[in-house]
Amino acid sequence: PRLANQIAAGEVVERPASVIKEVVENALDAGATRIEIDIEQAGVKLMRIKDNGKGIIKDELDLAISRHATSKIANLDDLENVQSMGFRGEALASIASVSKLLLTSKPESQEDAWSVLAKGQDMDTQIQPAAHPDGTTLEVTDLFFNTPARRKFLKTEKTEFNHIDEVFKRLALSRFDVSFHLRHNQKTIYALNVAHNQLEQERRIAQLLSKDLLQNAVVIHADDQGIELKGWVGLPTFSKAHASMQYFFVNGRVVRDKVVSHAIKQAYRDVLYHGRHPCYVLYLTMNPNMVDVNVHPTKHEVRFREQRAVHGFLFHHLHKALASVRP
Ligand code: ADP
Ligand code: MG
Repeated sequence: PRLANQIAAGEVVERPASVIKEVVENALDAGATRIEIDIEQAGVKLMRIKDNGKGIIKDELDLAISRHATSKIANLDDLENVQSMGFRGEALASIASVSKLLLTSKPESQEDAWSVLAKGQDMDTQIQPAAHPDGTTLEVTDLFFNTPARRKFLKTEKTEFNHIDEVFKRLALSRFDVSFHLRHNQKTIYALNVAHNQLEQERRIAQLLSKDLLQNAVVIHADDQGIELKGWVGLPTFSKAHASMQYFFVNGRVVRDKVVSHAIKQAYRDVLYHGRHPCYVLYLTMNPNMVDVNVHPTKHEVRFREQRAVHGFLFHHLHKALASVRP
């Protein structure tokens, strides 16, 4: 099973940023409202992710790092309606197979904290007592220490950090109700408090992306037939310089989708006669039955049940909002 884990790890664990993504998603699934990330050498040397979520009981620490162990779905019906970010039960096993992983946790219901250590092939699954407040800390050291070929594929510290930065931005933009902290080599990169209202959300966006976006953006808020669209679309003056700043969330998950980008681009071009890709941070909320988000574990894909309707909705409301500010 260890070998299988290493092979599967290639799919989920491509680089430090993929570890951050999986582990933070686990924290969010566990209901955390505060997530602290400490990394060294762009995560290759160390990644420590601490949350205040519901924790893992002592008897299930082992299970959490074994393959195909998930607490999030119990049967096939659940698979149809899965709301959690993870559900395959392979992330921690995959990470453990290519690093030294220390998992420490304390559920509220348990008096003491416990930890389990796994080192690549050698799974020393001895449970040790530990000190930890309610919640979970996952510490990943020496990523790919036992898979030199994969380690060689890692890029410079700067590049790997940029990947983490991007993953962090997506996660932090996806949940304004959670506070996020990122430190790199002891230096605070982001310290984001919970953003309760639009002003605080805009402050978070300014910290993560750019102050200029908000001064050059149209605020969108549409609520129509059970679908809601909220967010910011950058005007051409801003978009020209920041073409890649495109964040679209469907029910809290970042998504890259042709239907979406086409609708946005078309509305933009129609109203502002501007052929370039606009910048945006947009949130679409709809009945989960209307969208299938489990197309692929790592790609950010969705499948809308009614693509044309979603396209029409986006086009219509963006068109309206942009037209109201047309110069
Ligand atoms: P998945 O998220 O697909 O279930 P993972 O390998 O990512 O699989 O995690 C395995 C299991 O470990 C989860 O189902 C969950 O029960 C537990 N777990 C992992 N991280 C946390 C965390 N931060 N807080 C609470 N439970 C966690
Ligand atoms: Mg997971």
